[in-house]
Amino acid sequence: MPNFKRSDDVFLEAAKQFPTPFHLYDEQEIRNRARALKRAFSWCRDFREYFAVKALPNPAILRIMKEEGCGLDCSSATELTLAAACGFSGDEVILSANAMPPEEFRQARELGAWINLDDLSDIELLRTHGGIPECVCLRFNPGGSFSIGNTIMGNPGEAKYGFTEQQLREGLRTLKTLGVRRFGLHAFLSSNTTDASYFPELSRLLLTLGKSLEKEEGLNFAFVDLSGGIGIPYRPEEPETDIQAVGEGVRRAYEEICPEGQVGVKTELGRWMTGPCGWLVTRAVHEKKIYRDYIGVDACAANLMRPAMYGAYHHITVCGKRDWPADHLYDVTGCLCENNDKFAINRELPEIVPGDLLVIHDTGAHGHAMGYNYNGRLRSAEILYTAEGTYRMIRRAERPEDYFATLDVDPAAEALGLKI
Ligand SMILES: *Cc1c(COP(=O)(O)O)cnc(C)c1O
Repeated sequence: MPNFKRSDDVFLEAAKQFPTPFHLYDEQEIRNRARALKRAFSWCRDFREYFAVKALPNPAILRIMKEEGCGLDCSSATELTLAAACGFSGDEVILSANAMPPEEFRQARELGAWINLDDLSDIELLRTHGGIPECVCLRFNPGGSFSIGNTIMGNPGEAKYGFTEQQLREGLRTLKTLGVRRFGLHAFLSSNTTDASYFPELSRLLLTLGKSLEKEEGLNFAFVDLSGGIGIPYRPEEPETDIQAVGEGVRRAYEEICPEGQVGVKTELGRWMTGPCGWLVTRAVHEKKIYRDYIGVDACAANLMRPAMYGAYHHITVCGKRDWPADHLYDVTGCLCENNDKFAINRELPEIVPGDLLVIHDTGAHGHAMGYNYNGRLRSAEILYTAEGTYRMIRRAERPEDYFATLDVDPAAEALGLKI
């Protein structure tokens, strides 16, 4: 089930100090999860989590990750800049390539980051933009579908990422002529899975492949990067991923395939690290009864896109009414002129009246970060609930002048009198 560890008082107090809507993040819980992950992989001499910046790109959060010994996984120039500003460099950073401007290779190389290549053509781009390092990571796409037992975990054959096995061999040969001595293997084959056997199965696949490539291509197999994809229970009836079991499962595969223990293990978890540590706190501002009952809140899809974009479920609780019977059926909506701007559809909830404070759970990853400005709606503030139990604003809400700022190139726009 979602993370219900914080009482309603935590949200009510936050809403006294800051206007809604806002995302609230729980520092202690983020630290707890970072530590639990580290414990689960403590058997490995060379393990590190590289938090996926895209999940929650706030410097206050990234600095917590740094204090917990994590690195960062970046995929853009801006994310690299953020990483550098927060004091990450060298082997604390991975750049995951993905059809991005080649200049970003140069920026990553200047930072000393690991480079994870996505395609054969990236080799020439890296050579001419920053140069080829002595150790390179390659992203593998096995094609087809990825199954564990009878369950299809993902469909890599339809995914835009990675090298085929044939291309891995060709790529490693080219890289060898360019001075590469060691390589890593990366794959991301399943998203938001709470199945504890995903990482063990993935590591079995990558370790076996890496070992054979090592022998055949005469290069040193340095590490596997299991990437992200470990899920969280968004629904009350869903189980939490047993992260200790994930670590133990990887250990068993590892000890079988790499008994000499020379290969490092990296992860790039985003959702699992911070998803359950964030909530979108919003107030009911409107009630409407037509063919269904609607509760309008002061947040909208611009603050949390997942329900509108993927039909994703996010649990909702009403402050002060957690123990009330869920005997009303509501659509909980935002204010965008778009009918998919709904945080919940036909959801059983306690009776809600305007003024009630609603908590939308599990928004700590891919929440605020996916925000956008459709309809001229502005992104909310981000508040950190600190380990000491205080509240700190770590990003203010956008203001209209932020929205207009990019018009500064047009003197005609400025002449309209918009505050830019
Ligand atoms: C998005 C992403 C992640 C994080 O994924 P989660 O599902 O949040 O764990 C990790 N690595 C790469 C390369 C990604 O694109």
